[in-house]
Amino acid sequence: MNTDSNPNNCQYSQALLDFIDASPTPFHAVDGLKSLLLGNGYRELNEEEAWSVTPGDKCFVTRNDSSLVVFEAGGEAPHVSGFKIIGAHTDSPNLRLKPNPVYEKNGYIQFGVEVYGGVLLGTWTDRDLSLAGRVLVKSDGNVTESVLVKSDHPLARVPQLAIHLNRKVNDKGLILNQQTHMPPIVSMVDELISSESVLKQWVAGEIKRPVDDIAGLELMLHDVQKSAFAGMNDEFLFAPRLDNLASCHAATLSLLESETPEAATRVLAFYDHEEIGSQTAQGGGSPFLKDILERLGGSREQFMRAVARSFFISADMAHAVHPNYSEMHDSRHMPLINQGPVIKINSNQRYATDGWSGSRFELLCERAGVKVQKFVVRSDLGCGSTIGPITAANLGIKTVDVGNPMLSMHSIREMAGSQDHGKMIRVFREFFSPDTHI
Ligand code: ZN
Repeated sequence: MNTDSNPNNCQYSQALLDFIDASPTPFHAVDGLKSLLLGNGYRELNEEEAWSVTPGDKCFVTRNDSSLVVFEAGGEAPHVSGFKIIGAHTDSPNLRLKPNPVYEKNGYIQFGVEVYGGVLLGTWTDRDLSLAGRVLVKSDGNVTESVLVKSDHPLARVPQLAIHLNRKVNDKGLILNQQTHMPPIVSMVDELISSESVLKQWVAGEIKRPVDDIAGLELMLHDVQKSAFAGMNDEFLFAPRLDNLASCHAATLSLLESETPEAATRVLAFYDHEEIGSQTAQGGGSPFLKDILERLGGSREQFMRAVARSFFISADMAHAVHPNYSEMHDSRHMPLINQGPVIKINSNQRYATDGWSGSRFELLCERAGVKVQKFVVRSDLGCGSTIGPITAANLGIKTVDVGNPMLSMHSIREMAGSQDHGKMIRVFREFFSPDTHI
């Protein structure tokens, strides 16, 4: 079966672009996924409470409103049929407002920003930026609510220096200091408006609450340009945060579309904080997933047997070969856009794939009628990593690292293939199929 140019691929990609545009922050991504799950018969569980889960139950749990674990309890106990897990991350590199962000300089009002993760800084210049994040709201001296805020109006810009004042920029490269060159301009000093209150007043207006109700802010910048199909034949997707909202979206749709009943317990684990190393309370290095699986796994011994019987697909975007820099790839491992999922391999275990887990994924692709590619970094270059090895080490679970090929990773606007998203969904669906035994 050759389904490489399946028209459904475009529908899946359109749904992905809508999800990305609605999710400028991990909080929004988790909120959007929660709505999708609630609309499909899932219910939310709270880690603080006792759970009663029966076969076939569809549930999800969040931490910090930025990490999410979803599960559909299998028809058989996990120590009999195991856990089928797909993991990904909800965060993307960006610029985040400092605690006291507003300041005046040379008649301008600017926001002080921190750089979150490995941002390609130059791509954040000369873009139409806006604000999104969460607002902690107080009443009676307590923080009582977290409210999401998101603007699509261009509020801010990091203007580049004119080439006349930086003549060597094209030869020497754009050198940007994170502290001094990245604060965006948001307004002009005006004697009638207090700079100090400009941000809180904007937030209060957005959430329709008095300024005094605001207890805390976690705000980030994003590009307001909408995601798009692109290329001469719409073969590309131009969008922010493809790394790694594309994997979260593919995994979620595959679960929602999978057949039931299934003997194994199907699980999604979407973590915040991958871009800064995963070692946080809700990151891939936390016990979040293990805690949930343990609660579903029966006795201690049964839980251990369940994990030994389980399989984890760590899904994160992969590096397609760049035609202008093809020497940066190993010549026999050059993933191409729209040629299907990429299995990532690294002998030093920066990726968790081994012969067994890689072959297993390859066979899933074969059964789904999808071509598969392989990536290994050049031997003289360092290798990135994923939540794959972290989860494998945490749980002692068989793991494969995979992802769809893309360009401009960690740019404010990335690029991937419009056909690849649907292919990954089909492979994930094959994994979750009742016919697939671990
Ligand atoms: Zn990633």
